[in-house]
Amino acid sequence: MDVPLYLEPRLGPRLASLVRSGPLLHTLVGGLGSPLNVVLPQQITDNLARFRGVYREHRLGGEVLFAHKANRSSALVRQLAAAGGAVEVASLGELQHALGAGFTPDRIVATGPKNPEFLWLAARTGVGVHIDSPAELDELTALVNRFRLPRARILLRLSGFTAPGVKVLTRQSRFGSPVAELDGLLKVVERHGDAVELLGVGYHLDTTSLSEKAVALEGCLRAMDLCRARGLQPRVIDVGGGYGVNYLDDGEQWDRYTTELTNAVLGRRPPLTWHQHGYGLRNDSGTLRGALGLYPAHRPVAGERYLDALLSQQAPSLGGRLATLLLESLYDLYTEPGRALADQCGLTLARVLEVRRTESGEHLVRLEANADDIGLEEHGVLMDPLLIPRDKGRTPADAEPLGVYLTGNLCLESDMVTRRMVFLPRPPVPGDLLGFANTAGYCMDFSADHAQRQPVARKVAAWQDGDGWRWCLDEQYWPITNPGGAHAV
Ligand SMILES: *Cc1c(COP(=O)(O)O)cnc(C)c1O
Repeated sequence: MDVPLYLEPRLGPRLASLVRSGPLLHTLVGGLGSPLNVVLPQQITDNLARFRGVYREHRLGGEVLFAHKANRSSALVRQLAAAGGAVEVASLGELQHALGAGFTPDRIVATGPKNPEFLWLAARTGVGVHIDSPAELDELTALVNRFRLPRARILLRLSGFTAPGVKVLTRQSRFGSPVAELDGLLKVVERHGDAVELLGVGYHLDTTSLSEKAVALEGCLRAMDLCRARGLQPRVIDVGGGYGVNYLDDGEQWDRYTTELTNAVLGRRPPLTWHQHGYGLRNDSGTLRGALGLYPAHRPVAGERYLDALLSQQAPSLGGRLATLLLESLYDLYTEPGRALADQCGLTLARVLEVRRTESGEHLVRLEANADDIGLEEHGVLMDPLLIPRDKGRTPADAEPLGVYLTGNLCLESDMVTRRMVFLPRPPVPGDLLGFANTAGYCMDFSADHAQRQPVARKVAAWQDGDGWRWCLDEQYWPITNPGGAHAV
């Protein structure tokens, strides 16, 4: 076989310790079935503390709000409530869950497309509401007036930012009101001054580009000036999510892999993917076309370090560091990290059912799980699973690495857990587990469903206690379950 092209996951100490606990993981899957999701509430507290640390470095106040849509877990959300965190909810169900987890309304913000029930409960309980459009503002004020609700606390979600004299524009978004229409929006806010209170403005941009986010943040600073000039008193700028995760341990592996993938698409080396799948690239008579549609899995500046980098940017046209401008105006900074707060907080386990060789010589490893249970591929995150042998003693010392395709438990040609060849350090055997690390952000339960009446993964919370691990069902986890976890950070 060719040299194996590994894409080894980055494992922090806690997740690494869990992955090394093979007998525990086999017991869990033995008792609760495959697939199985494990979440690590202690880790999300650590991640929150790191984001808080960046606020402190820049002497900024405000909230770090976990974007709930990244994971449905109760344990993670309850842990954050106990740790003094905050949460961003994007549906009626998420809002109910957050309230039930112990968050007070001042630490909840509602975003996204909203139905009337979601708007009503948000206004009834007094959580912050991100207003997506003038029509939504009308709808909210009508609810407040009709049901005599308390004055709703609102933030205006803006989009379409530009900066004078600067070429960078922010990308198009389906969400938010164009900043060019802010004036009209503020007229509606003023007209309904008895029904709504303007907390601030914000954006959420799905991009890795720091310069685009700097334009958006500066646009918010300008928008705040405009509000103040009109006599309104907003104090919050919400810069949304999108801080990213560094999934891979080794940047060279990533560079080598993407180079070889390109070579494979061009036919210059043996295939690396199932049926010439190109992840967005294609071979047009010897010329490479398209663009690699993958998550940049090796990101040296991610999570709280990315936030630090954004705050340290110069404002594109106002001049001065963005953090300084925020501080001088005494604005509170809200951030809404989803993926980044869930970094290192989860592991998805799947049992190997069968290993077979096709007529053309490919090795297929069939798992007791499907592509919707393990969303890494769907989210463009290429990262190797970890082999957790059933019987460590029986592993032959001379076992060779093997390139395999992982297939799922649905009766569907397209149910491939990976469309790329995954290199394992040795051939797996039925009964082994594959552990997919770092799945808690979007890759664990976002798409899982009951197709073919296959089971949806159960979820357990696991925490370190001394040298060992303890666990319970996710639903059963409360911060008092784990006394070490009940403190605010
Ligand atoms: C999805 C989303 C987030 C979280 O984004 P990440 O990339 O996971 O950090 C935050 N805010 C809003 C409004 C979102 O829709």
